Amino acid sequence: MRYDAVVIGAGPAGSMAAVEIARAGFSVALLEKHSQPGTPLCCGEAVSKGALDRLMSLKPDLISCTIDEIKVVSPGGKAITVKHPGAGYILNRPQFDLELARQAVAAGAELLTETIGLQLSGETAFESLAIDNRKDGPGTIDARIFIAADGVESKVARLAGIPNLINVRETESLLQYRLKNIEVDPALIEIYLGRRIAPSSYLWIFPKSDREANVGLGVSTRLTQKFPPEQLLNDFIGSRFPGAIEAGKFCGLAPRYQGERIFRLKNLLVAGDAARADDSISGAGILYALLSGRYAGMAAAAFLRGDIRQEAELDQLYPKKFLDEKGEELALYRKLRNIYDRLTDDDFDEIIVALIEFFAARDSVAGLKPGQILAGLIKTRPKLLKYVRHLW
Ligand SMILES: Cc1cc2nc3c(=O)[nH]c(=O)nc-3n(C[C@H](O)[C@H](O)[C@H](O)COP(=O)(O)OP(=O)(O)OC[C@H]3O[C@@H](n4cnc5c(N)ncnc54)[C@H](O)[C@@H]3O)c2cc1C
Repeated sequence: MRYDAVVIGAGPAGSMAAVEIARAGFSVALLEKHSQPGTPLCCGEAVSKGALDRLMSLKPDLISCTIDEIKVVSPGGKAITVKHPGAGYILNRPQFDLELARQAVAAGAELLTETIGLQLSGETAFESLAIDNRKDGPGTIDARIFIAADGVESKVARLAGIPNLINVRETESLLQYRLKNIEVDPALIEIYLGRRIAPSSYLWIFPKSDREANVGLGVSTRLTQKFPPEQLLNDFIGSRFPGAIEAGKFCGLAPRYQGERIFRLKNLLVAGDAARADDSISGAGILYALLSGRYAGMAAAAFLRGDIRQEAELDQLYPKKFLDEKGEELALYRKLRNIYDRLTDDDFDEIIVALIEFFAARDSVAGLKPGQILAGLIKTRPKLLKYVRHLW
């Protein structure tokens, strides 16, 4: 088989990349190891509404809930609820991923499901990808450019020699249940902090309706022996949602990657989770996957058109455009992550109280910048400066 481009992984990053390449008029194979993009679900499905709306228009059936309020509960039980109308969406992620893959196909991409991308090979540039299709068995696909959008494990990128390696002990182990037969506010996200609830991470309640929610937590992987995620989550659910019915369960890893992100090797571009493009604080990666996939696809199309002659010139389109938009934000989240790791439960309590005071005079956080909130916190709690000064 031969295509102009091959994209490995039909998640948000891969489908966005394939759309751009196909719309530019080039042949592209979009490989997905599962029988259908988006399934099985492995995500809390929360995303910033404003940021997603700027990227694409969504059909209503891809949105489970629109979020207007965010509640954060400290280890000592102090709670702040911040009104932010239209702050976010809880997506129907299986349908969302499926829709993106359909858009790629509608643009001309060929979706090859149950097809695993394996090892790239070639002389000076990569020329061929070994694949394994469930029905037809092993084979190869030749192309002029490749995009690895194969998620957090990123086997293709790793086997090609891209050292975006994660140290498992530095990851977070995430566990999430889909709960039914519960009562939740469908416009409210809830976050619980504290070492006894979710050591080095947080617990989330993301509503899917007023009777259903994604309830999950993270635990620093090096602490999971001492604090088994399942036990912590079951304890929380037992007291908060005693009649809950479990309608789904999955676990996954959040990378918490601190090394340099590598986005290209020769004519292989890496996008989304495979490039470690996620927010180090919350683990959110859908938006970064969409954006990095789009720019990687645009760069690949420019390469195929001949606008770019040397592989190294690809960097001016991807990752440069992505990092121009999101690089500072991702760097800030990394620094905040390091601060977050040092906070004690008492610090969390104090920060929540300070935030309650800060927001008391405000009806909405819309338009507030993180720097303004930080400045407000330091004004009333100068001791927090010892953490915050690491930001600069
Ligand atoms: C528990 C949990 C909760 C999360 N909650 C949120 C959240 O609420 N909001 C948010 O923004 N982010 C969340 N994330 C992160 C988010 O899911 C990812 O950042 C996002 O899915 C990354 O998109 P992607 O396209 O890079 O990778 P993926 O979505 O992982 O897509 C990769 C695709 O490639 C396929 N694939 C993998 N290897 C191969 C191969 N060798 N050959 C062919 N196909 C392959 C996979 O099957 C998959 O379809 C969460 C993650 C976890 C683990």
